[in-house]
Amino acid sequence: MFRQRLCARPGCGAPGTAVLTFQYSTRTVWVLDSGDDEPSAIDLCARHADKTSPPRGWTAHDRRASASPGMTTSVAS
Ligand SMILES: [Zn+2]
Repeated sequence: MFRQRLCARPGCGAPGTAVLTFQYSTRTVWVLDSGDDEPSAIDLCARHADKTSPPRGWTAHDRRASASPGMTTSVAS
């Protein structure tokens, strides 16, 4: 039951690799990896997720595993 997740930005259509969620009560925005399903999540591609800036007075947290710079490689031993 997988559905193709696409970026929600108009005219983009790139694969969604991140999701954006909001909590209005605390004025917080989270950028999460696409696997973290939230009811109110908005799908975004990596490019648009990187360009996301919170509204004035809000706080943004980038919780993506890929948010750290540089390539990470997993070693199978
Ligand atoms: Zn996009």
